Amino acid sequence: MSAAALLSGHSSNPLEVHSSDRHNRAYKARFMAAKREAGTSGAPSSDDPLNSFNEPVQEYQTHVSALIPHAEMTDSARARTSWFDAAFVDLDADMDSDVVDGGDVVEVEADMMDEFDGEDVDIEELDDLEDDDEDAQGETDEEMTIHLKPPEEQEEIAEEIADLEAAVPQLVQDYKIVDRLGTGTFSSVYKAIDLHYHTKWDNSVWHGVHPPSSSAYYQSAPRPSDTKVFVAIKRIYVTSGPERIRNEITIMEDCRGSRHVSQLITAFRQQDQVVAIMPYHRHEDFRVFYNTLPMEGIKEYFRCLFRAFRDIHTRKIIHRDVKPANFLFDPKTGIGTLCDFGLACRNELNPNPLGSCLHTGSLPKHPHGKVLHPREYDGEQLKKAQKESRVKSSLPSDRVGYPEKDTRPHSKANRAGTRGFRAPEVLLKCGDQTGAIDMWAAGMILLSFLTEKFPLFNSNDDIEALMEIATIIGRKRMERTATLHSRLFQSNVPSITLEGISWTEFVERQNPNLRVPREPVPYYYPYSTMPHRARTHPPSSSSPTTTRYSESVSPQPDIEPPSEESHIEDVKNALDLLEQLMQPECVRRITPRKALYHPFLHDPLSDVGDDEYFPHPFGQGICAKYHFRDDVTDEMCVRVRVPGTDEMEVRILQAGEGLAIGREPCEFHKDEEEFLER
Ligand SMILES: [Zn+2]
Ligand SMILES: [Zn+2]
Repeated sequence: MSAAALLSGHSSNPLEVHSSDRHNRAYKARFMAAKREAGTSGAPSSDDPLNSFNEPVQEYQTHVSALIPHAEMTDSARARTSWFDAAFVDLDADMDSDVVDGGDVVEVEADMMDEFDGEDVDIEELDDLEDDDEDAQGETDEEMTIHLKPPEEQEEIAEEIADLEAAVPQLVQDYKIVDRLGTGTFSSVYKAIDLHYHTKWDNSVWHGVHPPSSSAYYQSAPRPSDTKVFVAIKRIYVTSGPERIRNEITIMEDCRGSRHVSQLITAFRQQDQVVAIMPYHRHEDFRVFYNTLPMEGIKEYFRCLFRAFRDIHTRKIIHRDVKPANFLFDPKTGIGTLCDFGLACRNELNPNPLGSCLHTGSLPKHPHGKVLHPREYDGEQLKKAQKESRVKSSLPSDRVGYPEKDTRPHSKANRAGTRGFRAPEVLLKCGDQTGAIDMWAAGMILLSFLTEKFPLFNSNDDIEALMEIATIIGRKRMERTATLHSRLFQSNVPSITLEGISWTEFVERQNPNLRVPREPVPYYYPYSTMPHRARTHPPSSSSPTTTRYSESVSPQPDIEPPSEESHIEDVKNALDLLEQLMQPECVRRITPRKALYHPFLHDPLSDVGDDEYFPHPFGQGICAKYHFRDDVTDEMCVRVRVPGTDEMEVRILQAGEGLAIGREPCEFHKDEEEFLER
């Protein structure tokens, strides 16, 4: 069966199609009820009594058809997802706004928590696994993880898998689904074996992007032919809204080749089902390791995270939902992967920011924006407003507060994200948000590592979240922060002092053992594996290949646990980085590149910095002059030398191809004389 059939066209009558998606069932149920009431079982016709029940029918039809633009796909185009170029009709505006509101997002998290509560992911269990017979056993282990779950859950998962296979029967041809990785309001993710990785697909676009010395080499290294390759299959529910699905898929495509970012292998739809395929990354639940991971492991966690941010932010993409559940980290290998771009957005410079903040949007030299010059805003007016606000803050509690039913016009700003990880500018509804919001969320994660507390903040709404932050940073800094976004911060809550405390002080109060080195855990990085600069092969886990436990668990006896002095030095550096990540004024918050060069993360033994491994966005880097976008089609193109001649010919690229890394040209221009001569 050809892969083109994976994208079978639009059913002429979607109502007759079995809807496997539980989120679509409600629509179908309403339609069936309408049908019953009309007393007919036939298809609607012009004189059909069903005409009086047109509304639910049409609603269902438009709902389904909006999801399904026409599409084609061939085997060799596996890495190419042209289907989303077709026009989507956004009929689900309401659903979209639900997503953006963030309320539902919180529920995703809550759902997952419930799931994990019932699940005993602990180290002992892994131990058992590892005791099993080494190499060959490793492959089977990844395939058998479902059996580690409670019987009721296994049953539920088996049912879901059967449901997905029934809904998208073509999946079975190419993938063997073996377990569920996670589930949420808008999607479920499954683990599967890519049955034809070595035989059917053209994987050449994936190979050779990152140099072997790069920590991202595992993403592009060819897989040995005797290994099973695992993938993650994400089933996106129709409730997610067509525009949102399109957004997620196109953003993932733009992020191809970015380091430590989940790579889109392909995406397709089957009637009302949309499915995305990504490499599988083995990882542990954050709650298993946040208070035991050695300091070197924490450093690797953030190196991976900030490399991912550096690469996506320079591609003008903000993740918007950074939290431990969306960063798949394998504490054994020290490799992490940023995933779930369901709420990600593009960070285009807005020439007329609605919120009229006192700062700019993202600029090439100032990725987090910069403060406006005083003559660019009305300073007198601002001072007056601040003064009034301070007077109000000092009034007795019955005279201040915020209205229970706020009738003031709503400030429209993107508030997506998860409670507890939202940056102050998100809470203050800043109209010009940048990648700085992802950095704040990373700061929240570092705060959990250092305090050994997770989750740390538990506000019920944005106001409460602002108050939590203000309790620490104090009224003065919160006022300054609010001013930056043309907002006023008033509070007479006694626990919010004028000066507040530093984040360092907060950590010290929360964790009295902060300066005591953690006990070495032999199966955690760096004790379980060589540091990444010494890797010559892609690590077996965190990659699409199978896991071989024997490789990653054999402890490295020559790695010494840190001395007390070196630990204290690490803590000092970590706290300094924390202050810069948790800088409430977004324009002054540290950028991913600077964070990678910060003493906490910069490897003193490595003679090259992160710039050497940075994959430039398309059309940048040393060979940029040979790269261009087609005027008409906007396709990415390169001029490539015709072998043995002076001629250049044009070649159309797929996303992820033609990336110049650091000072090196891309794969198409590495043999150009001008670059060889350097
Ligand atoms: Zn702002
Ligand atoms: Zn090039």
